[in-house]
Amino acid sequence: MSAHKITIAIDGFSSCGKSTLAKELAKRLGYNYVDSGAMYRAITLYFLRNYIDLTDHAKVQAALDDITLVFHFNEQRQTSDIYLNDEDVEPYIRDMIVSEKVSEVAAIKEVRKFAVAQQRGMGKRKGIIMDGRDIGTAVFPHAELKIFMTADPEVRVVRRYKEMFAVNPQITIDEVRHNLELRDYIDSTREESPLHQAEDAILLNNSTLTREEQLETVLEWVKDRATNPALATATNQ
Ligand code: C5P
Repeated sequence: MSAHKITIAIDGFSSCGKSTLAKELAKRLGYNYVDSGAMYRAITLYFLRNYIDLTDHAKVQAALDDITLVFHFNEQRQTSDIYLNDEDVEPYIRDMIVSEKVSEVAAIKEVRKFAVAQQRGMGKRKGIIMDGRDIGTAVFPHAELKIFMTADPEVRVVRRYKEMFAVNPQITIDEVRHNLELRDYIDSTREESPLHQAEDAILLNNSTLTREEQLETVLEWVKDRATNPALATATNQ
């Protein structure tokens, strides 16, 4: 098999298990994994800390001009942490206060332009797996493999609740459900790059798949595309 490296775009609703799959794939393939949601979360954290008025486009742009985002690999976690202006903000970006605002921030045109430019830069060298909402539709429309993940809404709520409960035992399942529903709604109805399945993306519903089954299925897709570029999606021709 030729060691041809490809670009893998994974999109889908919140808490479908995109990052779990992406991290496992990255490990198995020796690819870079980029969590694009972490970028929108870090930007949101900066806006919250600096009381940026989201309706003021000049202030939003000025704030973006002051933001530098960098990923550094964390050996202990075996994945990358996001640094906002040299501060590791990984411990803060999944807090509910950020989750409640992030979709509103991510819907702003200037914010998307800022994040997408950096994401494309990261993808220049191939051998990359990026997950998010618009990766296959807007960031890497020529990705050789595009996956659109779904899972039953209640499966997603329980998954996210367990994750959040581990760091915040005060959280209730209703709060988690409300946040997921709200983010899914804003993400899929916004004007700028709304979440939708790219025509050439493969649908992966993982409600009933084990992690191993899912990983093996996707590894087969990667193998097909890495050895036979003609199989890559139509937009790549
Ligand atoms: O992936 P995660 O749930 O951490 O993403 C947080 C939020 O960031 C999403 O709900 C969405 O509003 C935004 N996002 C986006 N485009 C991406 C990745 C995330 O708009 N590519």
